[in-house]
Amino acid sequence: MKIRLFKPYVGKEELVSISKSIKASWIGLGPKVNEFEKNWKKYLGCKEAIALNSATAALHLALKVFNFKKGKKVLVPSMSFSSTASAVLYNDLKPIFVDSDPKTLCIDFNDLKKKYTKDCVAVMVIHYAGHPAEIDKIVKWGRKNKLKIIEDCAHTSGSFYKRKRLGLWGDIGCYSFEEKKIMTTGDGGMICSNNKKLLKNVKAMRWVGIDKDNWKKFSLYTKANRDAYHWFYQIRTLGYKYNMNDLAASIGLAQLKKLKKMNFKRSQIIKHYLNLLKNIKKIDFLVPYNPNKYTYQIFGIRYNKRDDLIVKLKSKGIATGCHWTPMTKQPLFKRFKNNCNYIEKEIDKCLTLPLHPDLTKKEVEFICKQIKISLSN
Ligand SMILES: *Cc1c(COP(=O)(O)O)cnc(C)c1O
Repeated sequence: MKIRLFKPYVGKEELVSISKSIKASWIGLGPKVNEFEKNWKKYLGCKEAIALNSATAALHLALKVFNFKKGKKVLVPSMSFSSTASAVLYNDLKPIFVDSDPKTLCIDFNDLKKKYTKDCVAVMVIHYAGHPAEIDKIVKWGRKNKLKIIEDCAHTSGSFYKRKRLGLWGDIGCYSFEEKKIMTTGDGGMICSNNKKLLKNVKAMRWVGIDKDNWKKFSLYTKANRDAYHWFYQIRTLGYKYNMNDLAASIGLAQLKKLKKMNFKRSQIIKHYLNLLKNIKKIDFLVPYNPNKYTYQIFGIRYNKRDDLIVKLKSKGIATGCHWTPMTKQPLFKRFKNNCNYIEKEIDKCLTLPLHPDLTKKEVEFICKQIKISLSN
């Protein structure tokens, strides 16, 4: 048996959708990107959503739109993915690393308040594994201190938390459609906000400074009209090459239609795991899973002798992982080291187990059985 850790749930629907773009011979930044943005906006219920080639790009631009003065500080969890912390450096800002909440492994609210200084301009919050951070408290406190709030939603497709979607609590929400995430476009991301003005330059920023739709220019070209300046544009904003393309967007359109079904499958799998593992005293669950309420990208456990377990599961064909090495332990970020003692130790117990919509009940049972055997030895 070979069990993958993550696996995108793709097939016929995506092939049909992508073939439409191929037939139309529009595979770059085109009408499918617009359509995907429109559908995502409707799904999430937000005022603005702009499709990019990754969440990394979204996180970069999310900080960029505020034009913070060089050297200002951004509070970010040590327990984050490279992109979240790197976005701070891309913008010539300084990361202030915050420890994790022992229960949720999301940013620790008390440590956040402790690490705050007058030089801080923003806080980045990750809903780790898909479990909500204490975003209500963070927003309330952050507003008082004039902090901008960016939600890294790479692990969530916008679950409702206290009747509001994750990603719409702060100023900007950044979603990932990388192949391992809750839904995918191969690679891709979305930057979202209810403040349209805030993202007004992002269309230019994602496409080398050009604030015009390529495909609209094309359709105007045939209009014999002096205003149809098909070639004309002005560069006012420093832009990047961060746009999503129509191939990715057409996969996204098909995935969005399947999202509810995929999320249901994920929740069923997690319920099965929780049921089979709940009586093992030596292990804890990675986060306080509530699969009836939230969608999770990561399922995992905490166990003292994690490394032995990894080897044993591997020998049975079961892939595992660890998400992630805290940033304060990474060579690039060592110079920003400050006290994140809890997560730096706790991470050695964290183990990610297979989770994807295709995972069968039988496979979950096999994995849990192997964990039990391994623990009893
Ligand atoms: C995967 C991930 C990202 C980066 O997403 P990409 O779309 O691959 O750029 C950012 N933050 C977190 C928390 C992630 O898990």
